[in-house]
Amino acid sequence: MNKIIALIAAALLLSACATAPATQSEGLTFFHLNDTYRVGAVEDGTAGGFSRVVTLMREQQARGRDVRILHGGDFLYPSLESQLWDGLQMVDAMNFMDAVAHMYVVSGNHEFDRRGPEQLAAAVNASEFDWLGDNYRFRTGDESADSALRSGFTFQHGDKTVGIFSVTLHGDHGGNSRDYVEIDPDYLAVAERSIAALEERGADLIIGVTHVHMWTDVEMAQLKTKHPKLAFIVGGHEHEPQFYKMPNAALVMKGASNARVIWQIDVDFNNDSGYVVNESRIVLDEAIALDPEYEVLAAKWRRRLLEKFPFLEARVGMAAEKMDAREEIIRSTETSWGNFVADQMRGAFGDPQADLAFINSGTLRIDDYIEDDILFEDIGRTFGFSSFLRHTTLTGAEFKTVMEAGYRGGPESQGYFPQVSGFRVCVDRSRKEFDRIVSLQVPDGDGWKEIEADREYVVVVPDFLYGGGDGYDIPKDRFASRPASELKYLVLDAILRAQGLGKPVGEPVTPENRRHHSLREGKEPCFN
Ligand SMILES: [Zn+2]
Repeated sequence: MNKIIALIAAALLLSACATAPATQSEGLTFFHLNDTYRVGAVEDGTAGGFSRVVTLMREQQARGRDVRILHGGDFLYPSLESQLWDGLQMVDAMNFMDAVAHMYVVSGNHEFDRRGPEQLAAAVNASEFDWLGDNYRFRTGDESADSALRSGFTFQHGDKTVGIFSVTLHGDHGGNSRDYVEIDPDYLAVAERSIAALEERGADLIIGVTHVHMWTDVEMAQLKTKHPKLAFIVGGHEHEPQFYKMPNAALVMKGASNARVIWQIDVDFNNDSGYVVNESRIVLDEAIALDPEYEVLAAKWRRRLLEKFPFLEARVGMAAEKMDAREEIIRSTETSWGNFVADQMRGAFGDPQADLAFINSGTLRIDDYIEDDILFEDIGRTFGFSSFLRHTTLTGAEFKTVMEAGYRGGPESQGYFPQVSGFRVCVDRSRKEFDRIVSLQVPDGDGWKEIEADREYVVVVPDFLYGGGDGYDIPKDRFASRPASELKYLVLDAILRAQGLGKPVGEPVTPENRRHHSLREGKEPCFN
């Protein structure tokens, strides 16, 4: 008898030792990531990746912190793997993380890439992490998936209640419009209602996990003046790190795509019901070890991928130089890889080549360098989804108007930023939107001349842009081809042909051959 009591007492003591520090005295640590499309890391495994996040999570847990993971959305699509598994490989990886520390996730627009609801329902049903949403509801017709989405979400940290509100992007603002998800575009009103409801339920700390444009997050951050429990908002959609800090506003943070840069946010409660927030931006590089257990999972998915695509690691050609296709770069300036891809578009419909072509850099998904040997995998990862092309004709004046959409908004990286071929363009970002192109020039013998306003030019664009995607408004009152000639194969073909001639592909971008120039202060000349 005594022995049993002693054992129970020992067990109680043990459990008290094991749980008390983690939940009570040691505070909360959040890790925030967003826009992740890979099970593994990028840049030959040297940058980003969930594995390094897991290492950081375990380190904080070892210090006794109560660790939670926040994900700002965009992970099911698009990627090479999502074409095979519809994002279930990402769900598996995120379930792994959730087993280490609870993970709370908002849907991004890419979770709704599929036209039908079945794949989303399957992903939600396979998820062990929590899907959060306050301005949207699933209407997939699958009851268990639809009811899995949590609104007004709270969790307990010791005797403290933490509330999370979540909003995602509406179709009118660059999101996907699908009949299996109902989205309220009034983000600010939803956020305020949700925060008030969380306050009423006694939340000690309120945070936002969002997938909207940065300016919307900044707007919502001002709600702190009326709702002091609102500590911070973390989000996704932008693929480069974002940080906003102003007096009387909540902090806003976003990381870089594929967990290249994430945020650690420590929250400590003090006795007079207040809290202290300490945020730090963490670059995930080789200094952070990979987690051995996670690596087993990563290797499993790599093996499965190679079973489906045994030719994935086959060498198809050579890069003449280190071609930059990292999203932060390719979404804000021209790069040699972007130029090479756009150049192939002009030949998509045979000879003679089209005059002009451009593509939104958001279509180029590899988020990596392409250097030395070009592998089939580099092509597969660049085109996470099929991109069929169309040709049509536009006058020079119309074309210039169309291109203005590519230079709207702020200078930070944007998926609609164009990679171009057959012309060069000079932009003054200090001018008002849709009036920023200072000069748009086409080749003229050995030189260049301003595009002719009244001349008709043959233009090749992805079907996505022809249909009005990414804010490009292409006139449709004349002949246009049907969508044809998949860009992935044009690019592959060009590399293979060069390889047959023993030639590498890609040209460095130099001051002499650049296609895009953004004026500083609007004073210097456009092109010399
Ligand atoms: Zn997004």
